[in-house]
Amino acid sequence: EEAAAFLAVDDLHAGYGDVRVLHGVSLRVGEGEICAILGPNGAGKTTLLRALCGMVKGRGGVRLDGTSLAGCSPDAVARRGVAHVPEGRGTFVPLTVEENLRLGAFARRDRAAVQSDLERVYGHFPVLRERVGQAAGSLSGGEQQMLAIGRALMSRPRLLLLDEPSLGLAPLVTRELFGIVRAINEEERTTVVVVEQNAHLALGIADQAHVLESGRIALSGSAADIRADEQVAQSYLGYR
Ligand code: ATP
Repeated sequence: EEAAAFLAVDDLHAGYGDVRVLHGVSLRVGEGEICAILGPNGAGKTTLLRALCGMVKGRGGVRLDGTSLAGCSPDAVARRGVAHVPEGRGTFVPLTVEENLRLGAFARRDRAAVQSDLERVYGHFPVLRERVGQAAGSLSGGEQQMLAIGRALMSRPRLLLLDEPSLGLAPLVTRELFGIVRAINEEERTTVVVVEQNAHLALGIADQAHVLESGRIALSGSAADIRADEQVAQSYLGYR
C-alpha cells in the first residue's frame, strides 16, 4: 500500500531562511482522495502547501505518483500536474473572468481542448459563465475563489492544492464552494489537498485529515473518525 500512495511526503523539513516551520512531516494521499490539513494559525499549513508546489525549499521526500518532486521549481512541479490555489486567490483583477481562465491554460497549444476545458469549468461554476466578460476585481469574494479554482482546473491538474478557500467568505458561500470541490473530485478524480481553518466543513468533504501543530502532524485519521470524536474536535480543532 505504501508504494501505491499517489502523494507521499516523508520527513519533510521546510522554512524560510533560519525560520524553521515544518519539523518532519510525513503523510500519504491516495489517488482521487481529498485530504484536509487542519490546525491553528501559524502551524505551518500554508508552508506545507508551498513546499509541495516547490515555492519553499524543503529537506525530505515529496513524491507524486512515484516521481520525486524534491528540489523541483514551481514550474517543474506544475508541469507534473500540480496546481496551487494560494490563500488570497491571486486572480488578475483587471483581466476578465475568461482571460483569467485562459491564463490557466497558457502552457497549452491544443486550442480545441482549451475550449472544452473552459466549458468544463463553466459547468462546475455556472456563475463564472454569467460573468465571462467582467473584470475579476469586480467579482464577489466567493466568485473570485471560484475563478481561482477554475483557473487551476484549466491546467488539468492531477493534484489540486487549495489554501484556505473559505477565507473571508460567508458560511453559505463556503458550503457551496466545498460542494463544488467535492463534485470536481468525484467527476474528474482530481486528488485534492485542502488547508482549512474551517475544520468542520473541510472534514465534511475530506476522506483523510491531518492536524498540524507547530510544524508537526499531531493527529491523522479518516475525516469521519476525526469528525465523530468530540474529544478530538474539542482539543485539536476548537469547536463544539
Ligand atoms: P495561517 O492559518 O495563519 O496561515 P499556517 O498554519 O498556514 O497559518 P504558515 O503560514 O505556514 O502557517 O506559517 C507558519 C510559520 O511560518 C509562522 O510562524 C509564520 O510567521 C512563518 N512564516 C510564514 N511565511 C513566512 C515568510 N515568508 N518568512 C518568514 N516566516 C514566515
